[in-house]
Parts: sequence; C-alpha cells; structure tokens
Amino acid sequence: MIAWVQFKTENGQEYYERLFREFSNKLDPRGRAIAMEQGRWMLDEYGVAMTITCIGRTPAENTAAGGKDYSTHLDIPEREWIYGWDFRSRELPVAARRKVCSRMTGVWNNKQRYFIHVIHHDSGAGKHFHANINRAYR
Ligand SMILES: [Zn+2]
Repeated sequence: MIAWVQFKTENGQEYYERLFREFSNKLDPRGRAIAMEQGRWMLDEYGVAMTITCIGRTPAENTAAGGKDYSTHLDIPEREWIYGWDFRSRELPVAARRKVCSRMTGVWNNKQRYFIHVIHHDSGAGKHFHANINRAYR
C-alpha cells in the first residue's frame, strides 16, 4: 500500500526520521490533516502521493536556506507548532502544478478565511510546493 504522505529519503535515514518525527509531533495538526487529505487526492489524481521534503528549521538552518525571518518553517520555543511544510513536484506533470495549489486552497479557503497558503516556487533549492497554515488563524 502506498501511503498518502511520504518523506524524502535522499538526505539519509536521520533526515527521514526527523521529517517523520516533525510530521507526527510538531507540524500544526491541521496541517498534518490537510497534507494527508491532499496526498490522498494527489494519489487518486496523478498516482503520486505527497512527498514531504522539509518541515521544521532551526533559525540557523532557516538563514542558510534563505528563509524569511518569520518563516512558517521555524521551529522555535515561542511557537507551539511548525506551520509550514514543503513537498515535491518533480513527479507531477508540469501542467498539474497550478491544479495542486488551487485544489488545496479551494478546499480550505473561502472569502472569510484565508486559512492556508500554497505556492509552487523556487526559493533557491529547486522548485517545490510550499504550504502553510496562516498563523493568524492559530
Ligand atoms: Zn517552504
């Protein structure tokens, strides 16, 4: 059986386990649920589940990655949860990128609540999807 959410393996076992731990314990639980639901949809639609490539970052890792000062990936004591996660796009057809973003925002956002932010971008480490729970709705 293919899981709806998978974790990057290319950075080695330790990083894989870190992603697993962060997904289970530190990612905002709403983000965890949304990731699984979207991964199920992606598997149905494209035959590829969601492969998560990044969840938390220390401040030093965030600086090295070129992240914003207030990045939703930051894993810091002042924040109860990590609000952002990245996932892979290379297994999807290029034409699917916009649909992945619009499907996710279409399900979870409405005029009253801009609940989730999803983009496909390249922040320096290659193109990927970035999703985060908007922290104003914490
Ligand atoms: Zn990101």
